[in-house]
Amino acid sequence: MREAIEQLLLPAECALCHTLLSFARSRRIVCDVCRHRWRAVRPPWCDRCGQPEPRFGPCRLCAAWPAALRAVRSAVWLEGAARDAVHALKYRGLARIADELADVAAAIALPAHDTACLVPIPLGRQRLRERGYNQSEHLARALARRWHRPVVNLLARVRETATQTALTPDARLANVAGAFAVRTTVSGGPTPGPRPGVPGAPGHGPGVGLLERPLVLVDDVFTTGATLAEAARALEQAGVRSVLAVTFGRAILPDFT
Ligand SMILES: [Zn+2]
Ligand SMILES: [Zn+2]
Repeated sequence: MREAIEQLLLPAECALCHTLLSFARSRRIVCDVCRHRWRAVRPPWCDRCGQPEPRFGPCRLCAAWPAALRAVRSAVWLEGAARDAVHALKYRGLARIADELADVAAAIALPAHDTACLVPIPLGRQRLRERGYNQSEHLARALARRWHRPVVNLLARVRETATQTALTPDARLANVAGAFAVRTTVSGGPTPGPRPGVPGAPGHGPGVGLLERPLVLVDDVFTTGATLAEAARALEQAGVRSVLAVTFGRAILPDFT
């Protein structure tokens, strides 16, 4: 419904550079020129975190990650038109742009994604109220349509965290510590079942079947991985053994390339 209204009200122009789109392209909202400006993240990279391999020694970026978090990949570098696209998804309420982002994210070869459930990184209650939607859930749902996998809102943000933008890697880790919890009732996915054997779980949790499947965390942007690592830690503590993650954008970190 919202999509239909957006299509009627918005002129057929590129959401990023405002070039008019041809009628045939008017279901899209990003023009070819802008899409071609998105620079793909390419190997060689660290097998685990997907960051370009360090020149010396082992990868430092993922060394402290929880064991359950096995592979993280991002589609494009967060710069120029890709940054504008994330901004549009996040702050301009352009839910339809999630489809454009998901188109490139869907091409990521993530192990086991054909049997996994997609889990969006949740927003805190206050930020969700301000924004009106969770951009990561929009992206997860658009990706799920392409991968034909279910989306499960398995995580909750149990405390509001400061905006990560201006923080150093260490400060980012501290900022998100303990920020996530696994929901005991789950919406948007398979029917929850009993959950015996999971520590701390009440009787009607997400179900053993769900926790035994590989889960793919979905977020709009990867910066240092602190948020994904913390989300994976919460899942690991609930008994999940295999967590993967995909993001549309990846920040360029001068210290970690
Ligand atoms: Zn454009
Ligand atoms: Zn790494």
